[in-house]
Amino acid sequence: MAGYLLARAAVPVIVLEKHADFFRDFRGDTIHPSTLELMYELGLLDEFLKQPHQELRELRAVVNGQTVPIADFTKLPTHCKFIAFMPQWDFLNFLSTNAKGFPNFQLLMQHEVVDLTFDQQRVTGVRAKTPRGELEIRADLVIGADGRHSVIQERAGLERQEFGVAIDVLWMRISKKETDPQQTLGFFQQGKLLVLLDRGDYWQCGFVIPKGGFDAIKARGLQQLHKDIVSFAGFLRDRVAQLDDWSEIKLLTVQINRLRDWCRDGLLCIGDSAHAMSPAGGVGINLAIQDAVATANLLAGKLRTGPVSVDDLRKVQARREWPTRLIQAMQVFVHRHVVTGQTSRRKDSLPFVVRLLKWFPILRQIPARFIGIGPRPEHICSRGR
Ligand SMILES: Cc1cc2nc3c(=O)[nH]c(=O)nc-3n(C[C@H](O)[C@H](O)[C@H](O)COP(=O)(O)OP(=O)(O)OC[C@H]3O[C@@H](n4cnc5c(N)ncnc54)[C@H](O)[C@@H]3O)c2cc1C
Repeated sequence: MAGYLLARAAVPVIVLEKHADFFRDFRGDTIHPSTLELMYELGLLDEFLKQPHQELRELRAVVNGQTVPIADFTKLPTHCKFIAFMPQWDFLNFLSTNAKGFPNFQLLMQHEVVDLTFDQQRVTGVRAKTPRGELEIRADLVIGADGRHSVIQERAGLERQEFGVAIDVLWMRISKKETDPQQTLGFFQQGKLLVLLDRGDYWQCGFVIPKGGFDAIKARGLQQLHKDIVSFAGFLRDRVAQLDDWSEIKLLTVQINRLRDWCRDGLLCIGDSAHAMSPAGGVGINLAIQDAVATANLLAGKLRTGPVSVDDLRKVQARREWPTRLIQAMQVFVHRHVVTGQTSRRKDSLPFVVRLLKWFPILRQIPARFIGIGPRPEHICSRGR
């Protein structure tokens, strides 16, 4: 997204992606109303909505067997009053295909950044591993958008604060049938959670487990895991045995962390590279996009003519840090009080917040706004060609 916006604003950009394609399974699928609004502002919305996707207007969860509404997106002041579900690889292919229309945009696949280059304290570029050997690329600005295992952040020596997370996620696929219930998303039960993402002909399942608990689950055996899944979503009973080998079940470690400084001379980190997000609320993709928009808004004008100062880079952090802090605080709260909290462990009980949402429909607009738009939404201010 940062590459798209900077190239659109006539800044020469090279995007390096270490894989040969964008086909990663592990990144979630939610495109929120805030991101859809950006697509509208860029004139891409009609084309975007032609891509295969599902639309979720109301977020519901099954908590200890009771279906409860959590968020109502239909009253949001945005063009799209829904979350679009689109696998992230389709979204990235869509963005990069459109970016390739800009003469200043270059996407180099299978180019893995392995190090930074420096001139004294200033970052001057990157070294990348490619199928044709190692390559050095010099740049006025290196943007670290390489996710939560960021090499760029690590090589830049930026200090990271970790916020303890008590959960990990098991990630697996189970086929879908037409008779299955509509997308509900979350099944909470006595301090456990199963998330189902509708990916057309299969359910992408995320089963939340206590951190470090995978070995114990393996020791109990696959059949016990099948039983656990069915206890959340009974309609999967006739298919859960499709998970017949542990290799089909991936362990995703969940982290929440944030850099103290998102930049240094010649380098800026954004997205998960600056602040790794948990899946709670499904907001990480959209927050990363907000960072990209702020980056282009604040820096494109200056980058057109050359390097930017550290003070310029700090403005991006200053703009995006408090929305990030707020959302990460919400994620920590959800982990403690909804997913693993005491209240959710009691049979048949509903956490107090969830009860309020059930009793007072108007309150559902609050989570809708927080999840769907988020604090301090960005708008496209960087100039087009
Ligand atoms: C289990 C799980 C489920 C989630 N579900 C959701 C969800 O439903 N909705 C949501 O909004 N968020 C979700 N999140 C959070 C979300 O995935 C992240 O916050 C979001 O993907 C961050 O985007 P990013 O562009 O910063 O990083 P990433 O999406 O991680 O992208 C980084 C990119 O950089 C590439 N890369 C990495 N290292 C290098 C390198 N050295 N050189 C070149 N390229 C490199 C990677 O291949 C990748 O393409 C989930 C997170 C987890 C752990």
